[in-house]
Amino acid sequence: MNVSKGGERRNLIAGLDYRQVGLSVIPVHGIVDGACTCEKPGCTSPGKHPRIDWREFTTRRATEEEVRGWFTRWTDSNVGIVTGAISGIWVLDIDGEEGMQNLLATGLELPKTLVSRTGGGGWHYIYRLPEGGIKNSASKIAKKVDVRGEGGFIVAPPSKHISGGSYEWQQ
Ligand SMILES: [Zn+2]
Repeated sequence: MNVSKGGERRNLIAGLDYRQVGLSVIPVHGIVDGACTCEKPGCTSPGKHPRIDWREFTTRRATEEEVRGWFTRWTDSNVGIVTGAISGIWVLDIDGEEGMQNLLATGLELPKTLVSRTGGGGWHYIYRLPEGGIKNSASKIAKKVDVRGEGGFIVAPPSKHISGGSYEWQQ
């Protein structure tokens, strides 16, 4: 067991599980004592930016050894999943109730799928990648609704959110 301050073994377990089902996993800075583990005073993306140079993990999945190494060394890391072809998924990233209302107002359907509640009151709707792939976009479908596709990533459960909440799979 390797549990350091603010860190938990559950991030390691989640990282290994996600890798096991074919997802490309990366370590993302976590939240300890209400602040980003990057320790930069002006961090604009607390708990949401990768801890490593992650670009290669858009084209190859980390080995079990790599995942084990990251989350053992940094037990407080949030767990990131790279979207796009490498993981075979794309994600509708809906920012809070406002984002959800904006999306529903477009009349687009929201097919039932695996959903993560972000610790900040948003949703990640995770879909299988269609043939031809999906590109990233920000507020293109609707305001406060982003698409995470090729070259994107999401923060996944059981990561911690700057608001104090945790990302959780929706039951
Ligand atoms: Zn940071």
